Amino acid sequence: MKNLCQIAQKINIGPERVHFGEPMKNHTSFRIGGPADLFVEPGSLAELEAALGVLRAEEVPFFVLGGGANILVGDRGIRDAVLSLGGLTQLSRRSGGIWAEAGIPIDLLCENCLAFGLSGLENFYGMPGSLGGALYMNARCYEMDISGIAEEILALSPEGEIRSFAFSPDAWSYKHSPFQPGGRLEGWIVAGALFRLEEKDGPGIAAVMRARKKDRISKGHYRWPSAGSMFKNDRRFGKPTGAILDSLGLRGFRIGDAAVSPIHANIFVNLGSAKASDMKALIEYAAEKAFSAYGFRLEPEVCFVGMF
Ligand SMILES: Cc1cc2nc3c(=O)[nH]c(=O)nc-3n(C[C@H](O)[C@H](O)[C@H](O)COP(=O)(O)OP(=O)(O)OC[C@H]3O[C@@H](n4cnc5c(N)ncnc54)[C@H](O)[C@@H]3O)c2cc1C
Repeated sequence: MKNLCQIAQKINIGPERVHFGEPMKNHTSFRIGGPADLFVEPGSLAELEAALGVLRAEEVPFFVLGGGANILVGDRGIRDAVLSLGGLTQLSRRSGGIWAEAGIPIDLLCENCLAFGLSGLENFYGMPGSLGGALYMNARCYEMDISGIAEEILALSPEGEIRSFAFSPDAWSYKHSPFQPGGRLEGWIVAGALFRLEEKDGPGIAAVMRARKKDRISKGHYRWPSAGSMFKNDRRFGKPTGAILDSLGLRGFRIGDAAVSPIHANIFVNLGSAKASDMKALIEYAAEKAFSAYGFRLEPEVCFVGMF
């Protein structure tokens, strides 16, 4: 194993931004996950480029962390490094929209849009996670894909080259982005994005934001730690995944403290001290039941990270 202390020294972005054995449960919405050997959180784009340069030169594999709202990290944690984008939160008003760095929480981005009187992102208010993670996942809320309003994306290549891409719709589809495995930007890091937004009156924007958050509260989204929807919807199945899991009587079913939410069958929750192994077993059990009953494979939306 590489000497991670020496590597951390080379990264040289201040001790408060580099940690060893960092518990990942403190960085995931599931509140699950063992330690990351090396946890690096650059505070600026320049620091991100510097950290990436060292990790590359030292051949240390790394996982890019946004808000941790769509990942299940194994109980044995993450060997090598986690590169957290949580320190990149700058944003500015631009003509026709807003520019923001990848680590900004979606809620904070929406609140800034409201302050500027800019409309377009309010459907995403209440969705946990960061801008970078939302673009990677091509997050979708209330029938709207986040890519639909992206105008330009700034990204870092695996070799450290920084490039700006005009948004091109052909590479994006339901919960799919070119940054995911197999995509033409696989391995690139989203550093920031420009969203094309419309000037509107503040109270109108605020009303939609309030309604979205209220709806999520009523659906129990924040009742227990979770990662949102566990499986993707698939039109070929003829009904939403939640209805499929409901028809199998899975609502409330649990393995240890990992449970299918009693409120919504496609949200899997941590009732207190769930292990990643319990959650993984629950996911596999639900997928297997759906396959036996209906003959189709549910595709997890949540990303599995590290060692289980
Ligand atoms: C209560 C709740 C409700 C939710 N509701 C919705 C919903 O309505 N719609 C929806 O689509 N999702 C929903 N989610 C899931 C989650 O909020 C989104 O998928 C969100 O976009 C994840 O962003 P993140 O920053 O947390 O990503 P993370 O979980 O940190 O990472 C997810 C993936 O993105 C990659 N990634 C993260 N940042 C970057 C970056 N800057 N560059 C490259 N790759 C990156 C990671 O490596 C990982 O593979 C919900 C989750 C919760 C907990």
